[in-house]
Amino acid sequence: MIEKIACAMAASAMSAACNAGAPAASSDAAASAVADPESVDSPRARVLRERLVSMLIADGDLKDRRVADAMRRVPRHAFVPDVPLGEAYGNYPVPIGFDQTISQPAVVAIMTEALELTGHEAVLEVGTGSGYQAAILGVLSREVFTIEIVPELASRATRRLADLGYTNVHVRSGDGYRGWPERAPFDRIVVTAAPPVVPQVLMDQLKDGGVLAVPVGPSPFAQRLLRYRKRQGRVDVEDLGEVAFVPMVTSTPSPRPP
Ligand code: SAH
Repeated sequence: MIEKIACAMAASAMSAACNAGAPAASSDAAASAVADPESVDSPRARVLRERLVSMLIADGDLKDRRVADAMRRVPRHAFVPDVPLGEAYGNYPVPIGFDQTISQPAVVAIMTEALELTGHEAVLEVGTGSGYQAAILGVLSREVFTIEIVPELASRATRRLADLGYTNVHVRSGDGYRGWPERAPFDRIVVTAAPPVVPQVLMDQLKDGGVLAVPVGPSPFAQRLLRYRKRQGRVDVEDLGEVAFVPMVTSTPSPRPP
């Protein structure tokens, strides 16, 4: 099994379990909300991005045409302004400060494909980080609500997403363990940090017919990427393979021992 680095790693074997035939629906509705990234882009960045996308397709980590188009379109380098252009387009995670990383492109592809987006969904992301995954989701869905526990990362991502014109992406600084009750329920939920078990609050904020993708387990070892589907009150789960994300932390102090 070949391992990929996510926020640390994902096993590429899991991509076989991802939906290879996700519908290539039109993204026109969502696309109209997004400004042309032309102003921050350059021919060299576009070449590097195309090369990266081709490599992800060749590796079998990127199969859905709409996800590939979104990854061609979103200027990843704008989300990691402090690293050289070549590093922004390497297939590995890059530090974004506060001991956090922007996820490896292969992992972004795998997580995004796991959500089976059609362009009409309200999506909750836990773990905004740089805002890159949120931007990809913004291109592929109707509206994105993303929560980041590190206030500085949340404010940087807010500014960056606004500057790039992702008006359908909303960032909140807070603890993702609480979800976003005012905007719930969601069609899709994606967690980009690993909780030890699936947070029940997030499951409760998932619509019937919805999908929740979450890396679960002690970090960074023995985590599995799980995809839950809620159907008529029942919840089914699929194991999409091994991953290694940074831990999902909480702002709630642990109860003191008596
Ligand atoms: N999706 C990001 C990468 C995520 S890295 C990107 O595209 O860049 C994981 C992020 O989850 C980190 O920024 C970390 O601060 C955040 N995080 C960890 N625990 C969290 C929690 N309880 N609520 C919200 N964010 C959390």
